[in-house]
Amino acid sequence: MSHDYVPPLPAITAALAQVGLADVLSLPPFAHLDADSTPDFLAEFARLVADKIGPLDRIGDRIGSHRDPESGRVRTPPGFADAYRDLVEGGWLSVPFGLEYGGGGFPWLIGVAMQEILASANVALSLCPMLTQTGIELLGELGTERQRAAYLPRLVSGEWTGTMVLTEPDAGSDVGALRTRAVPGEGGTWRVSGTKIFITWGDHDLTENIVHFVLARAPGGPPGTRGISLFTVPARLVGADGEAGARNHVECVSTEHKLGIHASPTCVLAFEDAEAELVGEVHQGMRAMFAMMNAARLSVGVEGLALCERAFQAADSYARARHQGRLPGAAADQSVPIIEHPDVRRMLLTLRSTTDAARLLVYTTAEAIDTARHHPEPEERARAAAMAGFLVPLAKGWTTTMASEMTSLAIQVHGGLGYIEETGVAQLYRDARITSIYEGTTGIQALDLVTRKLAGSADSPLGLVLTAMEETAKALAEAGYATESAHLSSAATELHEGASWLIERQRSAPLDVLAGATPFLRMTGAAVAAWLLCRRAVGTGRGSGLTVADRFFVDQLLPVALAELVAVRSGAAALADPT
Ligand SMILES: Cc1cc2nc3c(=O)[nH]c(=O)nc-3n(C[C@H](O)[C@H](O)[C@H](O)COP(=O)(O)OP(=O)(O)OC[C@H]3O[C@@H](n4cnc5c(N)ncnc54)[C@H](O)[C@@H]3O)c2cc1C
Repeated sequence: MSHDYVPPLPAITAALAQVGLADVLSLPPFAHLDADSTPDFLAEFARLVADKIGPLDRIGDRIGSHRDPESGRVRTPPGFADAYRDLVEGGWLSVPFGLEYGGGGFPWLIGVAMQEILASANVALSLCPMLTQTGIELLGELGTERQRAAYLPRLVSGEWTGTMVLTEPDAGSDVGALRTRAVPGEGGTWRVSGTKIFITWGDHDLTENIVHFVLARAPGGPPGTRGISLFTVPARLVGADGEAGARNHVECVSTEHKLGIHASPTCVLAFEDAEAELVGEVHQGMRAMFAMMNAARLSVGVEGLALCERAFQAADSYARARHQGRLPGAAADQSVPIIEHPDVRRMLLTLRSTTDAARLLVYTTAEAIDTARHHPEPEERARAAAMAGFLVPLAKGWTTTMASEMTSLAIQVHGGLGYIEETGVAQLYRDARITSIYEGTTGIQALDLVTRKLAGSADSPLGLVLTAMEETAKALAEAGYATESAHLSSAATELHEGASWLIERQRSAPLDVLAGATPFLRMTGAAVAAWLLCRRAVGTGRGSGLTVADRFFVDQLLPVALAELVAVRSGAAALADPT
């Protein structure tokens, strides 16, 4: 009954081209790559994923990963360890990392396309390499020569995995409240003690070692985020020969029972005098984490995109197969596939257009991250870094909010069967829900957007986007799309109004700014996404014209999203305690 998912390779390759893959590949670090081979390369990866990883998605959901009470170790569902080994042995996990430690030296943009393919097949499994990636970046940026040599080749290949260990019972969104302690040990090492919760892939049987990247408090630091340091705590200590040896003092004491991503073990980890090494400077751990946050948050946006695509495909295929009801004037025995009903069409167009828009938003953000890292001109790097900073809360916050809405809509298209596990769409809905919670909730993304990423000047990221939206609106008008041109132009005006209102109050009425944050994120996400759809259709060198789904998004979904402007400007006084 469940729909067989196929990665949308033509849409992925087209989106890569549309957001500027050719420009990214012309940057100096990518000179060794052959741009023309990208589609074949992605197709080969998609084949492996479809054969080996996709079929495990339902098994993973049904069986889940659990801690075995006898050994105290986490066991993953049948097939997961073999599938993971295939990814490692094929060299697939190392593709977007630097050549120096055995990576493929590909841009992040291609890494993100691969993440979409993997996450859409099996989001629970995809989280394991996703978290390892952040550890690789942290060590690449801050690790000593010895730390890099000890860990990077094995993390890059995927032979070992990494975790991000921040959350504690009283320290979630407020990471600065964490209490895990680190004290200096022998020979420059440290000892970490404390309990961490909700640690994704915190223990498992896929690899012989796991490197935990742990935030903890070292003596002498100020309270709050400025007193936090970052440590590596390997599950098995690494000997002078570089091999994993004796077990360190870190235990998975339980795994959580949860709504979705059942195959991804969510662990409570107890550290008791665990041997650790400081990464970077003492008390500078949060700064280090922040530096890596863009790529990590974008990756969660990719999960949202992947689940939107699956939701669309499942709904589309069901709507063509299911016969129910008649069109006006038809005979009693002339039932039609439900896709013929305008209301079902509305749902499918919402799914299709939102997924296309989310892909452009996510890939555009990845392009900005690559340019910020690798462009030879410092000004271009700075401009792209600011743009990536502006786009990340949208790519994470808006796309994952859409993932919950779109997977719910896919259930609606299936009617009662959607609510029954057999079709698989219920799993998509359950799996999607976490994406707007971890790596910073939507509320936290929205705060980041309105308090750190907004500036009114014309050369600020928002200023540049508004100017570009007006240019695209003009091009739409010239191409004969008068209605869409008017909508996009209104979007630019209303975003400008919302942003100006917030910027004016940043000092004088900060609570009003916080009150408007999430509605502003939602309207900005939809507006930027609409602009990207239109730019794809009529921008320079593109110009295939708006699709039916693009027009639907701009004419029907964008105006609804812009109505959030009322909420943006309602202020904190309108949000009194509801009881
Ligand atoms: C399945 C799963 C996997 C996870 N994986 C990891 C992992 O690998 N590593 C790790 O360290 N953590 C992980 N987490 C933890 C996750 O990142 C946190 O749950 C998340 O950041 C939210 O923190 P919290 O649960 O304490 O919620 P809270 O911070 O208590 O938030 C509750 C609500 O209050 C809102 N809120 C809180 N503070 C503010 C504020 N200042 N302004 C406005 N609104 C606010 C939030 O938006 C939210 O709606 C995972 C969690 C889950 C459920």
